[in-house]
Amino acid sequence: MIKSVSKYAEDTADGPKPYCDPVKGDFFMAMNFLRKLPIPMEIKKQFPLTEKAIKIKKERDDEIARVFTGESDKLVLVIGPCSADREDAVLDYISRLARVQEDVKDKLVLVPRIYTGKPRTTGEGYKGMLHQPDPSKKPDMLQGIIAIRELHSRAIDDYGMSCADEMLYVQNYRYLDDVLSYVAVGARSSENQEHRLVASGIGVPVGMKNPTGGDLGVMMNSITAGQAAHMFVYRGWEVETTGNPLTHAILRGSVDKYGVAHQNYHYEDLRLLCDLFAKKDLKNPAVIVDTNHSNSGKKYLEQVRICNEVLHSARHSAEIKKILKGFMIESYLEDGAQKIGEGVYGKSITDPCLGWEKSKELIYMVAEQV
Ligand code: PEP
Ligand code: MN
Repeated sequence: MIKSVSKYAEDTADGPKPYCDPVKGDFFMAMNFLRKLPIPMEIKKQFPLTEKAIKIKKERDDEIARVFTGESDKLVLVIGPCSADREDAVLDYISRLARVQEDVKDKLVLVPRIYTGKPRTTGEGYKGMLHQPDPSKKPDMLQGIIAIRELHSRAIDDYGMSCADEMLYVQNYRYLDDVLSYVAVGARSSENQEHRLVASGIGVPVGMKNPTGGDLGVMMNSITAGQAAHMFVYRGWEVETTGNPLTHAILRGSVDKYGVAHQNYHYEDLRLLCDLFAKKDLKNPAVIVDTNHSNSGKKYLEQVRICNEVLHSARHSAEIKKILKGFMIESYLEDGAQKIGEGVYGKSITDPCLGWEKSKELIYMVAEQV
């Protein structure tokens, strides 16, 4: 029975009241409120975007939107490391992408992945730069929020590249909403109502991944929800959204009950997706093919072949060509992955990635087929 609302640690004026005693009848919360963090508005005031960055971001948003609406025939490559582990290597990677972007600008829009929050299958392991701005040190959320905002801002300011991130925690999205040009809702989140509702209020393309179990119906429902208008509670506010017409599908493969990976990028899979779109009344039917994760079975070198196969399928089917808007590729400076602490510059500490030289070749190869 609720005795006194003020017993909630969150609500006490004089700071945290962590482990209330359930035996004495107080609220029991196994949660220690360590410190109050600045709200997004305060962080944005302290770390504002430059005029130049605001302009670049707007131009890129418009260009990317044109791909998803079909006004542009270019493809989008959401490309970069599985997780952004350190600023120097990520910006080095983005500087290289920016040079390649110039060469392929008539065919492709390159959107670097700066993934700052990592979903963990068991909860164990590196949770991303938001939690640990330095993966070898203790978690520090305040420094994390600042680090991820600065990294995304510098990518735009220094290299003209507004980027993609996963919206893992819906309440944190507003720390980055003015810097992101692409948002993904991960395989473990796309069935979640809160992710769907918040996606409906986002002004850039949101990719809904198929869930890890592979049910495409869940992904389609998620797109439907993201495209519709909603009212709900968000960050302590009653809010309403207009719906996001750029909410689309990301196919990432799946894992069955025996733990076996199944691909969903083959010709038949893409035809099936065309049929699913045809049955629904959705705006801008679109798909991004994730070439790693369960599609490659994390055999990261397969990403090259997978891109080729999908482009081949698009040449055989006008319907597939119409919905195919690009790829999500896990790529970094070095091939493969390492354990945290091994300290190899530009090598992934989460999923294995395609190294820089191979990635560069892949980008040119995709560009030639657009
Ligand atoms: C990722 O993109 O790195 C990722 C975690 O993907 P998924 O949600 O598909 O597992
Ligand atoms: Mn990954």
